Amino acid sequence: MSSYDVSALRSQFPILATEVHGEPLVYLDNAATSQKPRVVLETSRNYYEQLNSNIHRGTHYLAQQATAACEKSRDVVGQHLNAGAREEIVFTSGTTDSINLVSSILGYSGTIGPGDIILISNLEHHSNTVPWQMLCERSGATLEVIPVTEEGAIDLVAFHRLLDDHQGTLKLVALTHISNAFGTMLPVESMIKEAHRAGSLVLIDGAQAVPHLPVDVQKLDADFYVFSGHKVYAPTGIGVLYGKRALLDSLPPWRGGGEMIQKVSYDGTTYNDLPYKYEAGTPNIEGAIALAAALEFLNDLGPEALLEHEQVLIRQAASALSSIDGLMLYGPEDRSGALSFNIEGIHHYDLGTLLDKMGIAIRTGHHCCQPLMSRFGITGTLRASFACFNDTSDVQRLVEAVEKGSSMLR
Ligand code: PLP
Repeated sequence: MSSYDVSALRSQFPILATEVHGEPLVYLDNAATSQKPRVVLETSRNYYEQLNSNIHRGTHYLAQQATAACEKSRDVVGQHLNAGAREEIVFTSGTTDSINLVSSILGYSGTIGPGDIILISNLEHHSNTVPWQMLCERSGATLEVIPVTEEGAIDLVAFHRLLDDHQGTLKLVALTHISNAFGTMLPVESMIKEAHRAGSLVLIDGAQAVPHLPVDVQKLDADFYVFSGHKVYAPTGIGVLYGKRALLDSLPPWRGGGEMIQKVSYDGTTYNDLPYKYEAGTPNIEGAIALAAALEFLNDLGPEALLEHEQVLIRQAASALSSIDGLMLYGPEDRSGALSFNIEGIHHYDLGTLLDKMGIAIRTGHHCCQPLMSRFGITGTLRASFACFNDTSDVQRLVEAVEKGSSMLR
């Protein structure tokens, strides 16, 4: 598609024709999971109708075709992230799985041990918090947290202070690229540089960034970068761990089983090369192939045009919503993807339920960010989150529904 044509795009998402409680669906819950375009749905279906077979070990036609398609997908993902080598792309079941993989191997290898520091931010999803807490419990390391400002941005002064305070013991900085709760964008490129200068490895949680921004892992220089397929127009159950080759090569395997081995005997087992060393068992073959279709779909939209389209919508929504009596927006003005708000005196769940009755799908609650909610003294927010197919009529319907719903609840 050469110019950004949102109405043509909408016709590629069959689910958008759904009616909810007799109203046309307005889907604004893309940060939780995005809807799937026809090309992805067809890729999944074609896989099962034409290619279905287990990969890597088969000599027959279908096994070879499925293996080739799955490995081609790895190339597509690698190109999408501008990875230095295809071996740096490990298929996982999602962001959570990727982070648990990294936290486990950093623990097993002793890369993180007693007295060491792991640094996260107050904006992290539970997926980028709890695995590190678990690693601290197992290893004797300590978790430190970069605070957020009143505006909901990362506190860079505190970040620098924490880097200075923990020179020598800081082993990992794990940061979200974009906050799923507030849409806050983190200046990850400069933060990675500074963390490296302090001697730390860096993991970036790109779950909310890959759907909205072009990501170049070599330019970012992240040691690990992770994301989920289902938030980027692909199916659930497929995700990616990018890791620098030398680093992944030097770290031990995680799960044991088929495919991750070179030779098994009762005297000892040797392990496969990257990326298979980290892909024990039958992977989500259909998911990997459909993920490549989804990333190609995303690329065809034009990353700059897509970003501009979504930014315009989010600014329109922020501006219109903020004129509603008692409405508070969270996060800095240059937010991306998600817009979080509350209305004074109204519980987010009650308003969310009324919005659903009007056909508007948005998320309410803590968004798996309970420490962030506690920081702001709230139990949750209403969150509208945008994708390539949303348009100004979605924004209008959202704003009208919030106005109507809040006046009904007052
Ligand atoms: N990190 C962020 C920033 C997220 O938004 C999410 C999901 O909402 C996750 C991690 C977890 O992703 P998944 O459930 O796909 O593993």
